[in-house]
Amino acid sequence: MTSIADEARLVFDNFTDRTASIFNPHLRLGVTGLSRAGKTVFITALVHNLLSGGRLPLFRAQANGRILGADLQEQPDDAVPRFQYEDHIRRIVEERVWPESTRAISELRLTIAFESAEAWRRMLPGGKLTLDIVDYPGEWLLDLPLIDKDFATFSAEALERARLPSRQKEAGPFLAKLATIDLDAPADEVTARDLSVLFADYLKACRADTAALSTLPPGRFLMPGDLDGSPALTFAPLPVEKGKTYPKGSMAAHLSRRYEAYKTVVVKPFFRNHFARLDRQILLIDALQAINAGPEAVSDLETALTDILACFRPGRSSWLGSFLTRRIDRILVAATKADHLHRESHRRLEAIVRVMVDDAVARAKFSGAKTEVLAMAAVRATREATVKDDGEDLPVIVGIPAAGETIGERIFDGQSETAVFPGDLPDDPRRLFDPVDGVAAGSLRFVRFRPPKLQHSPEGLTLSLPHIRLDRALEFLLGDRLQ
Ligand code: GDP
Repeated sequence: MTSIADEARLVFDNFTDRTASIFNPHLRLGVTGLSRAGKTVFITALVHNLLSGGRLPLFRAQANGRILGADLQEQPDDAVPRFQYEDHIRRIVEERVWPESTRAISELRLTIAFESAEAWRRMLPGGKLTLDIVDYPGEWLLDLPLIDKDFATFSAEALERARLPSRQKEAGPFLAKLATIDLDAPADEVTARDLSVLFADYLKACRADTAALSTLPPGRFLMPGDLDGSPALTFAPLPVEKGKTYPKGSMAAHLSRRYEAYKTVVVKPFFRNHFARLDRQILLIDALQAINAGPEAVSDLETALTDILACFRPGRSSWLGSFLTRRIDRILVAATKADHLHRESHRRLEAIVRVMVDDAVARAKFSGAKTEVLAMAAVRATREATVKDDGEDLPVIVGIPAAGETIGERIFDGQSETAVFPGDLPDDPRRLFDPVDGVAAGSLRFVRFRPPKLQHSPEGLTLSLPHIRLDRALEFLLGDRLQ
């Protein structure tokens, strides 16, 4: 229930957060993106670089020597899991494997001690910014539009999508089971569970590498967090008629009630308790995966971006807008894993993301927050080189492919360095959306590289993790709060 007490508590929380921030500057940074976009790697690299005074020339406070130190602090929210920074960094740096990805919400608090950039303020004691980083699956945001939809509307839209020719293979088993369901028959739990499992399998199959489709609510079916198997997730769309009342206890009535419960006990609390308290947001996207899956996946990613951006500026009369007292004022949309491309293609990747974001901003009628785009690698696992190919210089990237990765016939053992020509991105970003003249699926070559070995400075000091433009991201997200 959206109880008045809950709404009052939110206003009170925001009020106390704000009052506290006058004396102790405080920033809640949301980190989101669809599964495997790079959230865990980004947060780990960001914290590591802050704690170890990393090489961040474009992050001005650091470059100018005004950061006096950064420290991890105790997790402020008892009910939210802590982001397991220590485990993740150990895996990347010591074992040189990628950490486990985000599966649910988690938080990490750190403080950054800094000296002000302004001469008069330097007479005062140094400043301290408390930074709360909130990591959560982007899939959960795709649930916001469900709040205003009844079961019949949700079902009609979900089934229309499932019947698209391009989803035939993935949706087949679910649609076959659905055809056997009698809406008026008494509900039975085994059928409800089988149907919801097949529906979730279909949604997950659409997220698999080859299809890479993004816009598939309900979000918890893709990323259940700790709700896997719970009754609130045991439902699926049914071909119910809008406005018709189905017999009490029937399959249609039962799943309709479950759907309403999903909104009440799962979707609303997330937006109220976590989302509504963010100040800034970084949205990570794996544009390369979508590009490599073909034009449909690119358009689909853009639709997901539109839906996600719409969450950050809800209309005042909407459910979320009606109690949102705090506004996210900066949003960074960052294409991750730029180290899979040669530097020559970074500008093109950024141009592609810019087109997607501009379209999404226009479609979501989004305004008010400062929005920036960036192509970045939170951890740079490759270096660049040039090889001769038929007398021509070919720009390549060099790294150690993870064990089991393949290129053609070759299977890698996770030990040897290899040069890869990843392919070119088109100069005109619009070509990626073109189903006829677009970039064909599979035309880029990606392998998963192992995280890099840490380098040493000439003085023998261990350097922090290398990155591509992580410093520009930090400058945009935090720079003005460290003045
Ligand atoms: P999450 O689901 O958003 O938390 O995604 P992760 O942060 O776990 O990233 C998923 C995978 O993408 C990782 O296991 C890596 O293989 C890859 N990845 C993420 N960020 C980077 C990066 O900066 N560089 C490289 N080379 N790979 C990355």
